[in-house]
Amino acid sequence: MNRERRFDVVIVGARAAGASTALLLARRGLRVMGFDRGAYGTDTLSTHALMRTGVLALRRWGLLGRIAAQTPAVRTTRFTYGDEVLDLAIEPQWGVDALYAPRRTLLDAVLVDAARAAGAEIRHGVRLRSLLRDRDGRVRGVVAEDERGALAEIEADLVVGADGIRSTVAERVGATPVRVGRHATAVAYGYFAIPKRTSHGYEWGFRPRVGTGVIPTGAGAFCVFVAVPQARFDARLAGDFEAGFRALLAEGAPELAASLAHMAPLERLRGFRGRVGYLRRSHGPGWALVGDAGYFKDPFTAHGISDALRDAELLARAITGERAGGLAGYQERRDALSLRFFELTDAIASFDWELPALREMHRELAKEMSREARALAELDVVVPRAA
Ligand SMILES: Cc1cc2nc3c(=O)[nH]c(=O)nc-3n(C[C@H](O)[C@H](O)[C@H](O)COP(=O)(O)OP(=O)(O)OC[C@H]3O[C@@H](n4cnc5c(N)ncnc54)[C@H](O)[C@@H]3O)c2cc1C
Repeated sequence: MNRERRFDVVIVGARAAGASTALLLARRGLRVMGFDRGAYGTDTLSTHALMRTGVLALRRWGLLGRIAAQTPAVRTTRFTYGDEVLDLAIEPQWGVDALYAPRRTLLDAVLVDAARAAGAEIRHGVRLRSLLRDRDGRVRGVVAEDERGALAEIEADLVVGADGIRSTVAERVGATPVRVGRHATAVAYGYFAIPKRTSHGYEWGFRPRVGTGVIPTGAGAFCVFVAVPQARFDARLAGDFEAGFRALLAEGAPELAASLAHMAPLERLRGFRGRVGYLRRSHGPGWALVGDAGYFKDPFTAHGISDALRDAELLARAITGERAGGLAGYQERRDALSLRFFELTDAIASFDWELPALREMHRELAKEMSREARALAELDVVVPRAA
């Protein structure tokens, strides 16, 4: 077993939550190492619409330029409730006048590059094997395994689990749930070069038992998704996945389905069978959780990446003592900004609503999004060490 130099913070997982946390801590002068079992710049199972908080975080960190150069600006959102259409403009606020939906191949790479430029060490192809603990049970570091099977013992004052929905760190520290949802939506999605499409707005459509969406992303592609209760996903997509996807799309967004009828997807379609959401206790002696590892909500409200970026900022401030309350304060602030959003998402994921009630829930979600964007905007911006 190789024994490596000690770090202030070791982070397991280097995507939205992990790479952002590494970036923010390195900019504050901490010795940070992040690692991910996946490869640099790869995709992951997720659509990728960013909401205002996510865009605001990228702007604050000086990273929006590279995203905006490769991804169209989203300036409108269209909600379709049955046959009723509601077009909303993205109002400029807190320096954000457009939203973006970068592919994860771009977003996660931008975050990793920025973390490295700030001085963090980020390794790929490295997986967590176990946690190191002292005699009192406090987490003191990790045992990591590289692609050749070599094991390394890496000590740290704090281990951050940013290892996603199936977090090994959360499992090993026994992070207990503080809230668990009841409903899970299944999602199927793919990428299309939709012909003659000039609008670059987000489009969300809702009908009984089916939701649909169009998310414009880079290279002229649009991410098109359908969201349904799990039982429908199992029934309709079990055999011919693409035929099932197209049939559900035709039910939820007939015009869109017709416009794609003779067009092959740009890449293979992908499916997520759903998972009930949770908020977990996210700190303990020598450890903390950020991103999906500590807080996952149903993807139907498209907010997990924005939350991961927001919470990276809250966690980094708690670690460096910029905010009172330490890691307990981090969790309190995260939960205070998340709980109502979590409940609304769970209710929307139930599909047990009439369209007017759904519209009301979306109004409330918008208020929650404003509240969290304000909370982020009010934090001072930390200038990188080298600047
Ligand atoms: C179908 C679907 C659609 C979605 N759509 C949206 C959307 O439109 N907008 C939005 O904001 N959010 C969306 N989300 C949610 C979003 O994907 C997540 O909230 C986001 O990816 C969380 O980021 P993260 O960094 O916490 O976790 P992840 O992105 O999951 O990254 C975790 C990383 O940890 C690594 N890892 C795991 N275990 C180990 C280990 N043992 N050792 C080393 N590395 C490890 C993994 O390789 C992975 O790279 C969607 C999710 C799904 C499933």
